[in-house]
Amino acid sequence: LSTAPADGQAVAATQFTASSQQPAISLERGEKRFGESTVFSDLSLAVKQGEVVSIIGPSGSGKTTLIRSLNGLEALNRGVVHLHGVAILAGSEESLKLPKLKHEMLEIGMVFQSFNLFPHKTVLDNVMMAPLYHKRGGRPETEAKARLLLDQVGMLMHENKYPHQLSGGQQQRVAIARALAMEPLVLLFDEPTSALDPETVGEVLRIIADLAKSGRTMVIVTHEMKFALDVSDRVVFMEKGRIAFNGSPDELRRQVARGDRLADFVRL
Ligand code: ADP
Repeated sequence: LSTAPADGQAVAATQFTASSQQPAISLERGEKRFGESTVFSDLSLAVKQGEVVSIIGPSGSGKTTLIRSLNGLEALNRGVVHLHGVAILAGSEESLKLPKLKHEMLEIGMVFQSFNLFPHKTVLDNVMMAPLYHKRGGRPETEAKARLLLDQVGMLMHENKYPHQLSGGQQQRVAIARALAMEPLVLLFDEPTSALDPETVGEVLRIIADLAKSGRTMVIVTHEMKFALDVSDRVVFMEKGRIAFNGSPDELRRQVARGDRLADFVRL
């Protein structure tokens, strides 16, 4: 295990050297318990740079807990999360004690099921807030970049609106622009279309599909099976806290066609 320097706060993003040898993000031997109940134990997942991995599976199998453990929103009991070779998170029961790695956590973007936009900020301010707060650049350049991102997700004409004036799909597109504004190394999506009206699901999936094509490293928890198979390099099927399948969409299709028990869940 590589350990981060003692002065973790000072680690610059440049420390994350791109390499085909090491995963962009990985969880090794993760264990997560809520009280007496174990969501998963000894769970490992590695995502390569530029790879798009979808996590599918029945409700309650631990998909959301897994993805939230990758960026510290859930505290692991055991296991280690590496980002481009740097240990950024360790379970509370690990002997490995890491310094608080705030800068590293900013390299992981997250899009939530319920958008989580700041309600009293305009669309433009929502996208600019994190880069300004973390001093990623001056206001004019941050604003210009935010507008580019809003254009990319088709929301530039709504830049002065507030979240409550937007549909769910529009809010989620802003949330995606907001995540991109920090130029994260890895982008996590936690059921990004589950809270949307059916008519706005497509517009959000199209944006995510475009991002997937652009070579971003992405992990997507989703119930949208066709979408997952279309955009992903790899699909992970979780069941009761275990990875029951981990392979390419084609392998999954073949397995389903053969009448594997995965076919009970994956209807294509
Ligand atoms: P999925 O995303 O696959 O639906 P989750 O990760 O949301 O599954 O949940 C996995 C299990 O962990 C479920 O049994 C759920 O009830 C439990 N769980 C999730 N979050 C919490 C929590 N904050 N407290 C207690 N139990 C939780």
